[in-house]
Amino acid sequence: MPVPLRQSAKMASYLVQQKLHRREKFPLLVELEPLFQCNLECAGCGKIQHPEHVLRRRMPVEQAVGAIEECGAPMVSIAGGEPLIHPEIDEIVRQLLARKKFVYLCTNAILMEKKLDRFKPSPYFAWAVHMDGLRERHDASVCRDGVFDKAVQAIKAAKAAGFRVTTNTTFFTHDSPKTIQSVLDFLNDELQVDQMMISPAYAYEKAPDQEHFLGVRQTRELFKAAFADGRRKKWRLNHSPLFLDFLEGKVDFECTPWGIPSYSLFGWQRPCYLMADGYAKTYQELLETTDWDAYGRGRDPRCDNCMAHCGYEPTAMLATTKSLKQSLRALAG
Ligand code: SF4
Ligand code: SF4
Repeated sequence: MPVPLRQSAKMASYLVQQKLHRREKFPLLVELEPLFQCNLECAGCGKIQHPEHVLRRRMPVEQAVGAIEECGAPMVSIAGGEPLIHPEIDEIVRQLLARKKFVYLCTNAILMEKKLDRFKPSPYFAWAVHMDGLRERHDASVCRDGVFDKAVQAIKAAKAAGFRVTTNTTFFTHDSPKTIQSVLDFLNDELQVDQMMISPAYAYEKAPDQEHFLGVRQTRELFKAAFADGRRKKWRLNHSPLFLDFLEGKVDFECTPWGIPSYSLFGWQRPCYLMADGYAKTYQELLETTDWDAYGRGRDPRCDNCMAHCGYEPTAMLATTKSLKQSLRALAG
């Protein structure tokens, strides 16, 4: 099942509305983090290094739903931490679906099969399972044996129950074109997940493993080689063609951090999901009080190696809508 037609239609209508209202900055998708606690400690993770009293906090349902309503984004990706640890995660999802938001529930899948019956299949809902490679690579990436097998089992159970299942794969310097091809072939052809998201890892300052983050040149070479032989067209990637062009160095873009903002227990994170230069109480306040020109490659050294989806997919999506040729290319898949 590719991106449902109703999702593409809703996004198109949302973009037209923004244009009609002459809004220059608006959210396409919110990264909602209703907790920071996780049941894994991945070496490349920069999200779980908070003190114990912060890790124990859970965002109330009304706060999570209120933030999404205030900003008006049509899509929400619920991340963390591990969202399935949150005792009211099913209620947060239910309330967002009732408001016709498209929801991706990101998970490392350890609790997914156990909690599957707390959710219902819907064209507005998709699982987004963290899957960094085949068995050996994935288990090394999440620093625990057996997680790959558990995730595969949970994906099969969710598909059998009628859910839309997508995956989210992050690549590091350990990866080669061959390891990228192997995992994406497996997810696409064997597991037959509905769509796959990919991203080079962002060099979180707090991540325990600082040695394996990719630079811009390495990222471009890696994806150019991995996408060769027509594979890029074969894979059901949940990205615009222009973002994939960007990954393999065919085009270059500036980052659009306000397009995929992040809302967590601390508020709206400035400037993006990956960096935390303070927080705003509302999305509107975030827009008005952030010096957006201070961020991006060549402006802030922390951005220099970033080619992450949350900064550059909004740029690619907005460029797509401005060009008939690119819009047709995106529709052709
Ligand atoms: S599963 Fe996700 S949130 Fe949990 S430690 Fe790994 S990368 Fe971080
Ligand atoms: S380039 Fe953009 S998305 Fe990446 S870290 Fe900088 S502000 Fe965030």
